[in-house]
Amino acid sequence: MAKVLIIGAGGVSGVVVHKCAQLPDVFTEIVLASRTESKCHAIAAQLDRPIKTARVDADNVSELVALINAEKPDLVINVALPYQDLTIMDACLETGVNYLDTANYEPLDTAKFEYSWQWAYQDKFNKAGITALLGSGFDPGVTNVYTAYLKKHYFDEIHYLDIIDCNAGDHGLPFATNFNPEINIREVTANGRYWENGEWVETPPLSVNQLFEFPAAIGPKKIYMMYHEELESLVKHFPEIKRARFWMTFSDNYLKHLEVLGNVGMTGIEPIMFEGREIVPLQFLKALLPDPASLGPLTKGKTCIGCLVQGIKDGQQKTLFVYNVCDHQACYREVKSQAISYTTGVPAMIGAKMILEGKWKKPGVWNMEQHDPDPFMDDLNKYGLPWQVVEIDPNVMKN
Ligand code: NDP
Repeated sequence: MAKVLIIGAGGVSGVVVHKCAQLPDVFTEIVLASRTESKCHAIAAQLDRPIKTARVDADNVSELVALINAEKPDLVINVALPYQDLTIMDACLETGVNYLDTANYEPLDTAKFEYSWQWAYQDKFNKAGITALLGSGFDPGVTNVYTAYLKKHYFDEIHYLDIIDCNAGDHGLPFATNFNPEINIREVTANGRYWENGEWVETPPLSVNQLFEFPAAIGPKKIYMMYHEELESLVKHFPEIKRARFWMTFSDNYLKHLEVLGNVGMTGIEPIMFEGREIVPLQFLKALLPDPASLGPLTKGKTCIGCLVQGIKDGQQKTLFVYNVCDHQACYREVKSQAISYTTGVPAMIGAKMILEGKWKKPGVWNMEQHDPDPFMDDLNKYGLPWQVVEIDPNVMKN
């Protein structure tokens, strides 16, 4: 039915390629391109159907345009890094091809991410008659769809939204990040920020925490409040929300390492001079840390990501938790990746499928919650990320 060009060949890409390859009726042709083509070959070698590979520097619009013109895909799936979002969107505009990503644009030299840069493409994509789907991973991505689904089927109004992301897995290494180390550390060391009564409230990094009792035998874990990009689009598209927060679990070991690395300046993004050349400490640290794609065979345990929503239906207060539980080892058996890459790559495939099947195909630039959540929620159940909605004690969050 359609041809996709997947850009980037890291941990998430491996899952997207596997999951697209499992659906040959939808993804009839797959081209995988990245900066280091050998990484594309390594992913291709894991599959039982042939795909094409290519080398591309996605910071370079003319290289991207040449590749897109040569391959003529129906959709480009961007699973490179947030730094490449705008160049890939520019190339899609120039060639008239649909676009999808899993993380919003972030400039390389400032640890700041927001949707403004990509929302600014709305008119151009609309005029060109092509679709851009932003943030089709798990968080952002599934968490946006969960919120839209609860609003559609369970609430008249959503008042409080808490997105909770738990990785209860263990890779046995002293310190590693489960997705791109540079992006991960930039995100975690940023100030916390949440939405309350129409404005953003800032908190020092990881300064607010509480215990949360997770389902599926994961049990109680400390969750830390931080800023996450889906909060920005969700409070825009559901203006009735009085408070929206994002929480993530971290092991004490991870936090201890991060604190020490921060104290000695290794997480900085300002270039420093080292032996006559400029280096960025965080980029150097990334080179030392394990490649997230290598954690697959090592990681055991589960993830649980969900949305805790309080609101009203027919005048009654209600508190619901919608969530998925994913097992690291089961993911590895299926697609040779740990669950963090899996929970991002499966929704990227489903978002692509939504566009190619015409269910979410609409000219312009869209966040996930702006589409009908039902077909996406059905596909989560079909393609590896089953979910549940449960009624939960309204006082489960102490703070
Ligand atoms: P990795 O670092 O494992 O992979 C990134 C890939 O992009 C690498 O293959 C890298 O190439 C390639 N790349 C980087 N720069 C360029 C460039 N200029 N041109 C071409 N290719 C390039 O990252 P992950 O797979 O962990 O993450 C991928 C994306 O997914 C990120 O944007 C991340 O923020 C997002 N993400 C989203 C989540 C969600 O739930 N929404 C959760 C987790 C991740 P090379 O191998 O040469 O370095």
